[in-house]
Amino acid sequence: MHKPLLQLHGFSVSYGAVEAVHPVDLEVRSGEIVTVIGPNGAGKTTLLSAIMGLLPARGGMELDGRRIARATVEGMVAERVALVPEKRELFGDMTVKDNLLLGGFPLWRKGQRDQSQRMDEVYAIFPRLGERCAQLASTLSGGERQMLAIGRALMARPRLLMLDEPSLGLAPLIVREVLNVVASLRAHGVSVLLVEQNARAALRVADRAYVLETGSVVLSGAARDLLHDARVIETYLGAV
Ligand code: ATP
Repeated sequence: MHKPLLQLHGFSVSYGAVEAVHPVDLEVRSGEIVTVIGPNGAGKTTLLSAIMGLLPARGGMELDGRRIARATVEGMVAERVALVPEKRELFGDMTVKDNLLLGGFPLWRKGQRDQSQRMDEVYAIFPRLGERCAQLASTLSGGERQMLAIGRALMARPRLLMLDEPSLGLAPLIVREVLNVVASLRAHGVSVLLVEQNARAALRVADRAYVLETGSVVLSGAARDLLHDARVIETYLGAV
């Protein structure tokens, strides 16, 4: 398929003396949706935070074939990598539109003033945000808030979008709606690294998957194969 966008080689992350993510190899190819599934405390959030430069890491990271010696948040934003954290971190007393404008700030700073065009593109991806552009973020439903968090990240035109548990706290129908939009991002040239505890929903939209347990990748492969893997079914999917 497409060429590698993000490659991790022996990438590990520690909190003090405790290694929370043991050396992992992971790849996201251009145009791919890759999911990392695993139980509470497996190290999924830690992994995304370190890729984003929020935590120091050891080992190798390459973006588009170029080595990133030491990731920093500013550097990763400039590389067009975006992270939507688990807590979504919206500005509740600001409107949907203003939250989106803030997300476009990295582009604006680089002199790209096409914020309104980009906003229209985000509204085309999430029509619900367009309908509610003047509404305060704090008054949105859980699903709409998640859409706004993703939409805000998309304002900076990321080539790699990292999502930390977008399904958290959402009803199953809404999870499907949000993840279907995530799947559609391929067509917009966005690659996605999706961290999820909701393994079934994640495996249904992803191309490939990694299973992370206590900081180590214990299984990886095509998402559709993992959906039928006996160990994944037993541990993560349960009876259908
Ligand atoms: P969850 O799905 O519950 O968010 P996770 O897979 O994202 O879990 P992490 O939050 O990355 O897991 O946690 C991985 C390990 O690192 C856990 O053992 C956790 O207790 C530990 N950890 C997380 N944050 C810190 C921190 N700031 N200081 C020390 N240890 C931490």
